[in-house]
Amino acid sequence: MIYPWQADNWNQLLARRGSLPHALLLHGRKGIGKLDFAYAFANALLCEQPRHDGSACGACPACNWFSQGGHPDLWVIDPEREVDAGAEEGAETAKPEKKTSSQIKVEAIRELADFINLSSHQSGLRIILIHPAEAMNVQAANALLKTLEEPTPGTLFLLVTHHLQHLLPTIRSRCQKIPLASPSREQASAWLALQGVAEGDVYLAQAGYAPLEAVKLADEEGQARRREFLGGIADPDKVDPIGMAESLKSADLAEVVGWLQKWIYDLLSLRLGGRLRYQADFEATLRTLADKIALGPVLDFQRELTAVRQTVSHPLNSQLVLEQLLFSYRNLIRSP
Ligand SMILES: [Zn+2]
Repeated sequence: MIYPWQADNWNQLLARRGSLPHALLLHGRKGIGKLDFAYAFANALLCEQPRHDGSACGACPACNWFSQGGHPDLWVIDPEREVDAGAEEGAETAKPEKKTSSQIKVEAIRELADFINLSSHQSGLRIILIHPAEAMNVQAANALLKTLEEPTPGTLFLLVTHHLQHLLPTIRSRCQKIPLASPSREQASAWLALQGVAEGDVYLAQAGYAPLEAVKLADEEGQARRREFLGGIADPDKVDPIGMAESLKSADLAEVVGWLQKWIYDLLSLRLGGRLRYQADFEATLRTLADKIALGPVLDFQRELTAVRQTVSHPLNSQLVLEQLLFSYRNLIRSP
């Protein structure tokens, strides 16, 4: 996937697909979509039936590999991606320990030798994507340098970096530098609105107008709101419907109802011997509550939530609606 502000970069590079150097260094600010661009470019290059403009067809076996997350002729060194992939989905209170030193070590570069020396799978081209390239420690960078100095035909290095100046000058000089465009404020704002991020400009400003960072911020803030709300209903005896609805009067009712629906889904699922689906971070609480609920009232409440959800875009008084829901919820869990 490329972003609207990358169109010029994209067309320029595709036009050169027949005469590329053996190493490109894609650089630009963090959060503007460089990595997605690099993947899209690798996909276009490995596509077996590229379109006239050089972009990927989206349908050939190579494109299918990509849509499933990889391709045998693409080797990716990306410590951030590995950390993320290992993090358990939904485990939010027990935050997955983010490795602070996500260095690229020399072993990762040495492993490349086998890949480079293998014959390619399909098109005769092998691509090595390194992101973020500044994460290479000195040994790794030196090992890579040797490879760059003696390029293997049919091999393309795509280095992606947020910090061009943090790379060894010798590496920079062995690569062709491609500055990737940042969006204008208007482009960033329009794109964020398309992603359905409310108050996108607030997050954009916080993220220095890097749209992908802004999405992340909006997401984190949404998670914090969710945790605060669920923490507030975790002990039904302490739920104060009037006070809570008052404090949430300017909240997005659809969002709050969504949280409640998932909460009830998990409660029911646990009660019926099923698995937890949405709130792994509240597992202990949900298990305790699941033993206390009566099925009939919970199913009624679920219907109430569904009904509210259907009118949520034009509620008469969202504070009142929420208050009513919280009363129902409190009684539901309290009933023996
Ligand atoms: Zn294709």
